[in-house]
Amino acid sequence: MSSRVKIPEDGEPIVVQGGVWKVPNKPIILYIEGDGIGPEITNVAIKVINKAVEKAYKSSREIKWVKVYAGEEAEKVYGNRFPEETINLISKYRVVLKGPLETPIGGGWRSINVAIRMLLDAYANVRPVKYMPGLESPLKHPERVDMVIIRENTDDLYRGIEWSWDSPEAAKLRKFLKDELKIELEDDTGIGIKPISKYKTQRVARFAIKFAIENKRRSVTIMHKGNIMKYTEGAFREWAYEVALKEFRDYIVTEEEVNKLYGGKVPPGKILVNDRIADNMFQQIITRPENYDVILAPNLNGDYISDAAGALIGDIGVLGGANVGDTGGMFEAVHGTAPKYAGKNVANPTGIIRGGELMLRFMGWREAADLIDKAITEAINQKKVTQDLARFMGVQPLGTKEFGDALIEIIDQF
Ligand code: NAP
Repeated sequence: MSSRVKIPEDGEPIVVQGGVWKVPNKPIILYIEGDGIGPEITNVAIKVINKAVEKAYKSSREIKWVKVYAGEEAEKVYGNRFPEETINLISKYRVVLKGPLETPIGGGWRSINVAIRMLLDAYANVRPVKYMPGLESPLKHPERVDMVIIRENTDDLYRGIEWSWDSPEAAKLRKFLKDELKIELEDDTGIGIKPISKYKTQRVARFAIKFAIENKRRSVTIMHKGNIMKYTEGAFREWAYEVALKEFRDYIVTEEEVNKLYGGKVPPGKILVNDRIADNMFQQIITRPENYDVILAPNLNGDYISDAAGALIGDIGVLGGANVGDTGGMFEAVHGTAPKYAGKNVANPTGIIRGGELMLRFMGWREAADLIDKAITEAINQKKVTQDLARFMGVQPLGTKEFGDALIEIIDQF
């Protein structure tokens, strides 16, 4: 099939159908090293993931990694930052661990991150945010922070339907609103459109509740601004509840039911589904983070709350995330290419390792994922950290590679 990429003969593809992952014992997983610090952190992450898989399953399971090219390296090898061969391989194999990729501001090439997301129809952005002792959190009780934000990825204002105030399109729309709907806007009004569909809301709501069930989470909170935007954000709330009640009745209980029927206590084994207005949530995740577990949000709210939640643990640089759909997913660090640290063996690889941990959870390889989680916590506990954390902890930093080696040693000792 390809000239530059060799597919291992003893590997098999992962098949994701309707959100159900069928994972062979030797799955083929693609990886993209990425730009800037990408190659250093990605290669360390692969070593750590391999170690966790080996420790958990001996030789009965093994990831067959296949390197594919995107970004600067692809430009050198193929003369194209997102070559056809990579597109074809992602379309076929559907599961990707990805280092950060550069996107220029204001001009240049289009975001390859977005292109991969679209290729995989990865409609749910998943970002776990959990405090690890040792991090410099601004909270008094950061150990109470353990949430997963699931953000709708394809709808809302992010569809980019907007026009400048002085464009003919905005003038046309203003005229339409005035003539047809008797709504008069000032002549210098720019216009953006906020579409929120039932189909897109319900598929992400279904995803979030399934995620909560499979990962034994306590609650799913629908975040919305439905008091003001009734037919978009309000509808998001309504449609999400509809999925919860129609499709997951045996697993969930609503807040109303808890108060009316169960004396204010969630019955054991049930997942609480409730909703909160967005502005209220911003203060509540700070004052009462323990009340939030899985947060289901439309695109724009989700974008804001993800970073706010990340800040609660003191460092969004250690977070991993995923973009997942019904047929595959892309796993990565939350941070970018940090160009000033590129090639210096100082970057923290924890973000992409966490991305890999999340990938293992979607694969159902929970034992390996748990080993990674425990090892990162233990490394910080032993003050084995890279410079970004060492500078706050007042300890000697480890290099990127050495931090990876420390994690591998810790996993070996479990
Ligand atoms: P960034 O690459 O995340 O870096 C911002 C700062 O965060 C760094 O200067 C460094 O801070 C710290 N940092 C980030 N990752 C780190 C790590 N692994 N270890 C240690 N420190 C780390 O953000 P940016 O400078 O805004 O973006 C650079 C490029 O990355 C852009 O082209 C952007 O488009 C791209 N990007 C890609 C993705 C993605 O691929 N998903 C995501 C975000 C951004 P200190 O200076 O405090 O040490």
